[in-house]
Amino acid sequence: MSLRRILLALCATPILSVSGVAGNITGDHEQPSVCYGDAAHGRLERGRRLPYSGENYRAYSMLGFGLGRTYVHSVVRDVMLDAYAELAQSHPELRFIYGESGWATGGRFPPHKGHANGTAADFFVPVRTQDGKVSLLPISSFNLMGYAIQFDRNGRSGANTIDFEAMALHLLALERAAHAHGIGIRRVIFDVNLQPRLAATKSGRQVLSHLAFNKQQAWVRHDEHYHVDFRLPCR
Ligand SMILES: [Zn+2]
Repeated sequence: MSLRRILLALCATPILSVSGVAGNITGDHEQPSVCYGDAAHGRLERGRRLPYSGENYRAYSMLGFGLGRTYVHSVVRDVMLDAYAELAQSHPELRFIYGESGWATGGRFPPHKGHANGTAADFFVPVRTQDGKVSLLPISSFNLMGYAIQFDRNGRSGANTIDFEAMALHLLALERAAHAHGIGIRRVIFDVNLQPRLAATKSGRQVLSHLAFNKQQAWVRHDEHYHVDFRLPCR
């Protein structure tokens, strides 16, 4: 089934039960998640998710959130939250959107190829308008929850331009938070034609020297989002 057909089917699915927008925040008594196998064939126990939105971030879609498509391993959830918290302090003007990551129990996650064991997450690119104001991608069912938004080689899409510096700051914050939680970042997938634009920013240079990126174009173009594979021990 094509990516487009799967996403269209998803968009047409009514929300039967939106299970709250609070996500599940770490409690002192929370049992950590357990991941099994790899991102392609594994699974997850006790998956957790971020709240639908916070001070400087939100999920890509209320529908996708309600359907349970934003679960990750509890440590990855903590890393994502800590990165946003750091950025809220250091760059309070920036806004971020996280994308799909997986089911609460992992397993196959069409149309994505990985995302099976809670160790991967998608992030939509931060954008600014042509006059430099911080903006958000116009995500809706008309553009397949944002995944069908196209950027040109200069990182422009309609009125929006990718804020490569903000993207780099986010990746650096994720790397720091991952390190603080005793895990790492295994790989970042992003459009190879846009990677030089990322490298041209101050923080982007650091990101590309610290983190491993795909060298060849991925099976779907990752221009509107970047995919992060975290490195953490699974059974
Ligand atoms: Zn992905």
